[in-house]
Amino acid sequence: MQFFFLFYILLLVPILCPLAENFSFIDKIAVFLVCGLLFASIWTLSLFISSKSEKVIYSVMLAISIIPGSIYLAYLLFANVMLEQNSVTSLFETNPEESKEFVAHYLSIWVIVGVLVYAAIPIVMVCTMRSFRPLKIREHKTLFIFGIITLLSIVGINRVSRSVYFINFYKTFVSYKIRTSGEVKDIRKRQTEPYEVKINQQDTIPQVFVIVIGESLNKHHMSLYGYPRNTNPLLSQYGDSLVVYQDIVAPHVHTIPVIRSLLSMSDYEHSEYFSKKPSMYELFNRAGYDTYLISNQGFSEELRSSFDILFSLAGTKYNLATYKQHDDIILPVLDKVLKKDNKKNKLIIIHLIGNHMAYEFRYPKEYIVFNNKKDGLVPDALYRDEKAKKTIDRYDNSVLYNDSIINSVILSLKELQDQDAVMVYLSDHGEELYDYRDFAGHAYEKVSPTMSEIPFMVWISPSFQKYRTDLVFDKTRPYSSEDFIYSISDLAGLNYSDYDDTRSLFSTKFTPRKRYVGEKTYEEIKEKFEK
Ligand SMILES: [Zn+2]
Repeated sequence: MQFFFLFYILLLVPILCPLAENFSFIDKIAVFLVCGLLFASIWTLSLFISSKSEKVIYSVMLAISIIPGSIYLAYLLFANVMLEQNSVTSLFETNPEESKEFVAHYLSIWVIVGVLVYAAIPIVMVCTMRSFRPLKIREHKTLFIFGIITLLSIVGINRVSRSVYFINFYKTFVSYKIRTSGEVKDIRKRQTEPYEVKINQQDTIPQVFVIVIGESLNKHHMSLYGYPRNTNPLLSQYGDSLVVYQDIVAPHVHTIPVIRSLLSMSDYEHSEYFSKKPSMYELFNRAGYDTYLISNQGFSEELRSSFDILFSLAGTKYNLATYKQHDDIILPVLDKVLKKDNKKNKLIIIHLIGNHMAYEFRYPKEYIVFNNKKDGLVPDALYRDEKAKKTIDRYDNSVLYNDSIINSVILSLKELQDQDAVMVYLSDHGEELYDYRDFAGHAYEKVSPTMSEIPFMVWISPSFQKYRTDLVFDKTRPYSSEDFIYSISDLAGLNYSDYDDTRSLFSTKFTPRKRYVGEKTYEEIKEKFEK
């Protein structure tokens, strides 16, 4: 029974890991080898201890492996992916509200039954273990030493222990905690240190910059990007005054890492710039702007997720997510902010819940518009059943609603008098909607082009356009929102020692850079799916 217990706890995940589409053959062999060795070492050591202590040790093993085990197995069996470090981190960061909706979308009775059965089997095993007489260490020294050395090397060497699912799970948790608390400390300390931010052109007219960060918007579901359903009836009326960028990708496919990247100078090569260099609110605060955050997505002043520290630097914060309303809740707050002291420069960041799963909760009932059975505009595909098509209908309703929200933001800016205004809308990342397979959502392990590509639009007031003729609005430029901080700095004419002209989307000196989505290049991702 002891043998079967260890086999179950340590080798079930590796045996199923050939199901993982995101793992190469070598990765799978590594998982199998490392877990096999761990199994051998624990089995060997268990021969030396009394049955009583063995039961205690196995119960502890069971307790620590059951949660990560259920999560890994659920992902393997239902999504055919092996969780990677990035996603394990985002499991710890996801706010409870978001997790609830995620679970609601993916949970089925089979998942619940599976997890219950998975947990029940080893409990029965531990209870029915028979006692035996342990070996004596001095009679089997070599065997004992083999067990100890193998066990310690697997647990101690990071590269090796990554292949053991539950060790990886806990190590990721610990390093995440250490990293985030260090970041918070560094960023707070930064605020008291000198760092000069100047404004290039001192215009007498106050400027208002509104950055709307959307959520999970697949640009291929927007009529502005050529989608056959009219999901942008309002924004499409702007013609050339709304610049719609065609080739922008996100640096990650999960909200938190994207926001961390958008609002800071951290990038693929320098993740440490997150806390070592000033972030967006800090730059604008130092340049004398009034800064605001209007958020309809979980944000916590107690810094529960690792982007909260960046948002917390906003001068005034409106946390609207607590009201659990649709995105129009931001509009009266925006109007209030716009009306405040109209002599001051303002940076207003709006964080929408946008098109986040579960899509049907993202719009009021007046926006229940699309029906594939009537319009026939959701093409047939092997992996797109009736349920999938219905999900696409709901998603498109949410895109239509988002169109009205962005339009309302622009209308509010149009009403401003004697102020220049710019609105930039970008989605944090995209979303896959049964584009290549039976899957909707966004997940690093399944990263695809439609998850990585994002809509990106800029609206500029006519007065600002006249004033800043040096800016270039070329909608074909290939760009990653990883460099967004340089673009917004350029729009506002901010000048500071870390500013890099070549990374601004609007600069004459713009130079395209290699674009990464997580650890992969965008080209690699495209190639994989265009085959
Ligand atoms: Zn997101």
